[in-house]
Amino acid sequence: MKKIIGLLLISLLLCACSDPKQEVHKYSFFAFGTIIELTISGVEKSLADQAAGELETDFERMHKDWHAWNPGPLVTINEHLARGEAAPVSEDLMPLLIKAKQLALISGGTFNPAIGGLLELWGYHGDDPPTRPPEKETIEDYLKHIPDLADVEISDGLVRTDNSSVQFDLGGFAKGYGIDRAIDHLKALGIENAIVNAGGDLKVIGQRYDRPWRIGIRNPRKAGVMASLDVNDGESVFTSGDYERYFIYEGKRYHHILDPRTGYPASDFISVTIITEDAALADAAATAVFVAGIKDWQLVADRMGLNKVMVVEKNGVIHMTPEMKPRMQMVVETINVQDR
Ligand code: ADP
Ligand code: MG
Repeated sequence: MKKIIGLLLISLLLCACSDPKQEVHKYSFFAFGTIIELTISGVEKSLADQAAGELETDFERMHKDWHAWNPGPLVTINEHLARGEAAPVSEDLMPLLIKAKQLALISGGTFNPAIGGLLELWGYHGDDPPTRPPEKETIEDYLKHIPDLADVEISDGLVRTDNSSVQFDLGGFAKGYGIDRAIDHLKALGIENAIVNAGGDLKVIGQRYDRPWRIGIRNPRKAGVMASLDVNDGESVFTSGDYERYFIYEGKRYHHILDPRTGYPASDFISVTIITEDAALADAAATAVFVAGIKDWQLVADRMGLNKVMVVEKNGVIHMTPEMKPRMQMVVETINVQDR
């Protein structure tokens, strides 16, 4: 009897392996300053390999063209704007800038992709994190001409503004925009089940052959996850945290998500997670809600049309919208902020 069961098991396993629908293909490459992990299920390896190659090339190009400080198309636009000139925009960048403006407007300015100058002042326009904050006066001077996307006109292949402090930095949503594009590319190749994951920010289509795609949300203060969840077909999950890029100066943590209202790192939250379909929106919204803080986070989420939001306060308390709650299987109930 035992032998028969053993044989049955072996043949079942062989079946699973030889059925391409049940294979999971994994790839990884580097782009947008992080490792992009691509997982594809339900197709032959040759098609998955082809898709991975094409996506890697796409991501390389997006990373280069949309870079905020390495010479390239976006830097050229910023140079024009700094001189007070209208800047020609390529067909590739046009929809990105239009979307950036639209997201900035609905966020009420908490997501402000025109604060490249402020990020540069803070020393975030370089590969290494800065070591000390700028002088208070430097920030105050900057805030006198704080860029507002409402004053930026994007049309007829040109971007124009009277405010020469406008400097695009798309770091708050380019990854999301790129992931939307990657998923569209996979669909165009006939791939229906995949996950594109850029360092924990991700979008999925379909499912793993046997069950939904399952992911974890990183604990903002120690290795491991704070929650896990099943992600449905077409959903994106994006998290912004104060642990991605930061430095400690005189015992205080300074991170890379800046509040355009104060010029300083947003101070209420240590992590914000958003679930919604549009990855560009999810990415921008994670940044916007992070900046909005404890008083305004629900207001900003509403304005941006989001109902699945989780925020972690700097004291470790976790809050969730009613629609988010049933989605999260919590591993911890609060974050121990003493951990680092
Ligand atoms: P990450 O990509 O590191 O997960 P975010 O999506 O929150 O985190 O993006 C942070 C990046 O967004 C910063 O490095 C900077 O380029 C940009 N940024 C910082 N503050 C803002 C802001 N208030 N609005 C728009 N972009 C911002
Ligand atoms: Mg973001």
